[in-house]
Amino acid sequence: MNDMNACKPKIIMDLEALNVTNASGCPACGRKFNLGDTAVLACGAWGDGPRYIHENEAVQDVKTNQYFERGYYRSLKASA
Ligand SMILES: [Zn+2]
Repeated sequence: MNDMNACKPKIIMDLEALNVTNASGCPACGRKFNLGDTAVLACGAWGDGPRYIHENEAVQDVKTNQYFERGYYRSLKASA
């Protein structure tokens, strides 16, 4: 267990989660979430901490189990 597990890194979108996330939409693709979508709490180039994005736009780092937006993850690896 770690902090990321404690704040539910992966959720299925329900009405309550939609209300929270669809104020700004998905930061990775800009689209709104739909009921039943799987979303993960991921870090990305938006820079203000982890946010929910569509699961298929995220990759999970095998070392930390944290999710990252794909493009952001590539840029992190490229500069490492
Ligand atoms: Zn998205």
